[in-house]
Amino acid sequence: MPSDLLCDNTTKLLERVKRCAQKSQFHNSDILVLAVSKTRSAEEVRAAHGCGLTDFGENYLQEALEKIAALEDLPLNWHFIGPIQSNKTRAIAEHFSWVHSVDRAKIARRLDAQRPAHLPPLNVCLQVNISGEESKSGVHVDALPELVNAVVALPRLRLRGLMAIPAATPDTNAQRETFSRMRSLFNALRDSAPGMDTLSMGMSDDMEAAIAEGATIVRIGTAIFGPRAT
Ligand SMILES: *Cc1c(COP(=O)(O)O)cnc(C)c1O
Repeated sequence: MPSDLLCDNTTKLLERVKRCAQKSQFHNSDILVLAVSKTRSAEEVRAAHGCGLTDFGENYLQEALEKIAALEDLPLNWHFIGPIQSNKTRAIAEHFSWVHSVDRAKIARRLDAQRPAHLPPLNVCLQVNISGEESKSGVHVDALPELVNAVVALPRLRLRGLMAIPAATPDTNAQRETFSRMRSLFNALRDSAPGMDTLSMGMSDDMEAAIAEGATIVRIGTAIFGPRAT
């Protein structure tokens, strides 16, 4: 995609986020737009940075590491947002500043142990299987409090909040109902984790509902970069 179109998309998106935030009861004036750059080239990410974007989300480790290396000259924040296998934790701990997809204690303990001493603690969101789908990643709601307690105790992780990828539905009321349950969970857990300040929810097709219910990070791919090839 030509970079003028990319910047046009970005400007429109940022304006839409701002309008949604003003309409929402949460009036959150600093929602972070996380540009989801999976399948996009390093040059596309460079162009997106030129449009003012600073935070990029990646799902596939190998692909991400190549882009991170190619773009070392830029001050970018890299967020890992994909499913995490145990054998991937070291590279994630070494190369990312955020991980949104932690869903079990074993992975959290490995990230904590492998986070290099010269880097600040790794920012972590716990992925919640909020729609209760069998096949989906994410911690079950019932197991969430225990996972929060485990992660809070790990010194090289900084628990920032919760993340969800709800079952897709075009019904905006259903979207809002799901995001509202995320907000309630988040509020209920803040006694055990007072440092939590992040609700990572909302993608290109449901960001309005997510912001209406208090999202602080929206993860946006298609609305910035256009449709993915695959
Ligand atoms: C791909 C992806 C997104 C972005 O999806 P779009 O619909 O392209 O905005 C957000 N979050 C996660 C976890 C993803 O895998």
